[in-house]
Amino acid sequence: MEQYEIENIKSNLQTYLETKGYRTDKFFTCINPEHADKHPSMKYYDDNHVHCFGCGVTYDLIGAISAIEHLDHKEAFKKAIEYYGRKTLTPETILRQKTIKNEEKTAKNYEKAYKYWQNALKDNFEAQKYLLSRGIDLPTANRFGLGFNCFKSKDMNMAAVVIPISNSCFSARNIYPDEEMRYFKPKHCDVELFNKQAMTNKKPICVITEGELDCLSFEALNVNCVGLGSANNVNLFIESEKDKNKTFIIALDNDDAGEKWSQKLKEYFKENKIKFAEFDNCGYKDPNEALVKDRNAFTQSIFSLIKKLEKQNNAEM
Ligand SMILES: [Zn+2]
Repeated sequence: MEQYEIENIKSNLQTYLETKGYRTDKFFTCINPEHADKHPSMKYYDDNHVHCFGCGVTYDLIGAISAIEHLDHKEAFKKAIEYYGRKTLTPETILRQKTIKNEEKTAKNYEKAYKYWQNALKDNFEAQKYLLSRGIDLPTANRFGLGFNCFKSKDMNMAAVVIPISNSCFSARNIYPDEEMRYFKPKHCDVELFNKQAMTNKKPICVITEGELDCLSFEALNVNCVGLGSANNVNLFIESEKDKNKTFIIALDNDDAGEKWSQKLKEYFKENKIKFAEFDNCGYKDPNEALVKDRNAFTQSIFSLIKKLEKQNNAEM
């Protein structure tokens, strides 16, 4: 390796310190593991070195890696090449890395909140009334751990039914649907399937819907169902673990997006020799509308389809 290449690699000291969480624009805590620095005494200099005014050490990039990652000089040198040898990090990459780090930090765990919100639902008649108006009975709501909470922030004030999707993700539905904001999900929650265990459990048939409420509409009738979260998550469904002996029933929304993604699902099922059928939601916009507007027809249609599929499956065996 040429000297200029080494110098080039060493010029990443500031980047390295920043990605490790040190602010190089002011004094920071000394990185020397043997110096318990009580007042930030280390300073970064633009000619690619740091100096501590407490213990007196001076490091370049290799020394800094060695101190922070507890490596000897040779190993630290290898690390430096691994980090900065082939590609020089652009400010954009650094920014992206920082953003990812921050997002990981802010992905909250709502487990405790869910318990609290579930109890709140038990005491909230308005929220229960909302659920019933959407065709979801309380036993089903309890089975899926639904809750109630008032979300208040500077740009939001919403009394909502909370539908847990995972420990870190939920969907919140405004119980007053005529208000401007009808629902929201925490920022990073767009890429999770709802009730995904429906794809791997022992039940021979699994319906696929878009929304969580559509999924609950089938589950309220005790029909095994997974919710994509949005039609765009068809790829996520395709990549997820599933029992390929199941028969899947496609029941996406009756609109252009729903149609497009149904097509993609059909192709996937055909290619992988997975049994499937389609359900038209009795001509309504989506399963929840069908359930709310004509519960009898919805129930009869889905069960007659299931019966037909079970008969076919039995005949094959
Ligand atoms: Zn020091």
